[in-house]
Amino acid sequence: MYRSHTCGELRIEHAGMETTLAGWVQYNRDFGAMTFIDLRDRFGITQLVFNTENDAALFQRAKELGREYVIQVKGKVAERYNKNKEIPTGDIEIIVSELTILNTSEIPPFTIEDNTDGGEELRMKYRYLDLRRKPLRNNILLRHRVMQETRRYLDTTGFLEIETPFLIKSTPEGARDFVVPSSMHPGEFYALPQSPQLFKQILMIGGYDRYFQIVRCFRDEDLRADRQPEFTQIDCEMSFNDQQDVIDVFTGMAKHIFKEVRGIDLGDIPTMSYDDAMSKYGSDKPDIRFGMEIQYLDSLLQNAEFAPFKDALASKGNVAGIVAAGCAAYTRKQLDAFTDFVKEAHRGLSGLIWVKWAADGTITSSVNKFFDEAATKTWLEHCGAVAGDLLLIGAGATNKIQKSLGDLRLKIAEELGLRDKNKFAALWVIDFPMFEWNEDKKLWSFMHHPFTSPREEDLDKMESDQGNVKAYAYDFVINGSECGGGSIRIHDPKIQAKVFSALGLSDEEAKDKFGFLLEALKFGAPPHGGIAFGLDRLCAILSATDSIRDVMAFPKNNAGRDLMLDAPAPIADSQRKELGL
Ligand code: ASP
Repeated sequence: MYRSHTCGELRIEHAGMETTLAGWVQYNRDFGAMTFIDLRDRFGITQLVFNTENDAALFQRAKELGREYVIQVKGKVAERYNKNKEIPTGDIEIIVSELTILNTSEIPPFTIEDNTDGGEELRMKYRYLDLRRKPLRNNILLRHRVMQETRRYLDTTGFLEIETPFLIKSTPEGARDFVVPSSMHPGEFYALPQSPQLFKQILMIGGYDRYFQIVRCFRDEDLRADRQPEFTQIDCEMSFNDQQDVIDVFTGMAKHIFKEVRGIDLGDIPTMSYDDAMSKYGSDKPDIRFGMEIQYLDSLLQNAEFAPFKDALASKGNVAGIVAAGCAAYTRKQLDAFTDFVKEAHRGLSGLIWVKWAADGTITSSVNKFFDEAATKTWLEHCGAVAGDLLLIGAGATNKIQKSLGDLRLKIAEELGLRDKNKFAALWVIDFPMFEWNEDKKLWSFMHHPFTSPREEDLDKMESDQGNVKAYAYDFVINGSECGGGSIRIHDPKIQAKVFSALGLSDEEAKDKFGFLLEALKFGAPPHGGIAFGLDRLCAILSATDSIRDVMAFPKNNAGRDLMLDAPAPIADSQRKELGL
């Protein structure tokens, strides 16, 4: 036995006891006649004391222990003179009588402390060292808890955990596939699943009623926006349910996880339509921890001669604003920065108008040559501003207004400290459009995936008015992040055929890609629907970190490289030949 206790275990009531500990040397502090070592393992840190008076030879050996050496010590638990209230073992220390060096270590390339001096790339290369650091370890422990609580909740609500294959054919999520060549079938390839979508539907057709899997998914796509080429989903499907049933079950799951893992009550989780989310928050994943909703001034400005307003309204756009509470004193420089922000190409507004309602009641604006104080005051009041507030107004096409003001809202909230990572606000966004127009391909494409069911009442618009077909699709959003998404599926082959045709997919193409599912739908498919949660994103939110890399044991960098393994890498010619490449 290497140890009798872990480094996180001993307390004052153990004082006087003989113990054996093993772990890594975190610090070695030399105080002349005494040397203190912090010994670390996954469970915590325990202070070791070596005293020259007790044993000069042992003392000398202790002084030579380097950082990250692996040692075993035997000694007596003693009450500490200087207690450390920061750590659970802080009341005691070990007076060491025996020391064994189990392994030495080179000097680590960065400090293994809560605040390290190592950059992210270096820490990824030496991931095993980074994994020893407490912040990362805490995230990995939290992730473990999330997985266990997920399993517990789903098991008790009748879901079966069933694995689905990785070596498959293309799936319908719309990203690029990773492909795997087959040596048994030269020139032929498997695709790695972008999700188990088709299998979970097949399982419902197979009669399993409720399925889940905590499963790796693979998407060969651009990694901007904190994505990973392989990521983990909590993938679920259920039979004989409508949209509300799915929402109820997974509201329960989200609440269970937050309660068990963080002790947080998510409270009532509201539902919002996609159209409302876009119009009020300019986003289909609104952060509702704070208000600052987009306010529309269109009705007040129908007769305005001011060209930017007039043009926007004439071309069916909007004039709209957001109120930054208490920001009337913002400087020219701050306002210019906001203007530059909304003018960036992907937001596309041509400018931003400001109206300041100073705390003393005076109103100033960047358009005072065109509008008097009485007019601007009606805008302020219409938008719900009070003295002390700043109103920022844009004019233009609806999509640009929503994108720009939605992003600006988040930016200002960030600056005002309204996006506290330890506060949580969740909601369901529903009634997503079924299709979205792809300008490059001049085609309607699906918004969720092609097995999503359109609403019955919109079926007659499938060929003539695709833009107004809504789907039984829903997203679970928390703190402005999409954490889960799913839909009620089509179980009627005739409707499935209609959807494929609306997507411009010929019968042949549909059959080639998803033939087996189309076939299966003919054999008594039950009504079914489901959802997948992004485990990585969920854990990042629960860990109050921005990046999913911080909650994965072995993430890739944002160029998709594994820096520890140095993958991807070329393969040998012989291997290539074998694979028929
Ligand atoms: N397969 C979908 C996805 O990965 C989720 C679902 O529809 O259940 O986004």
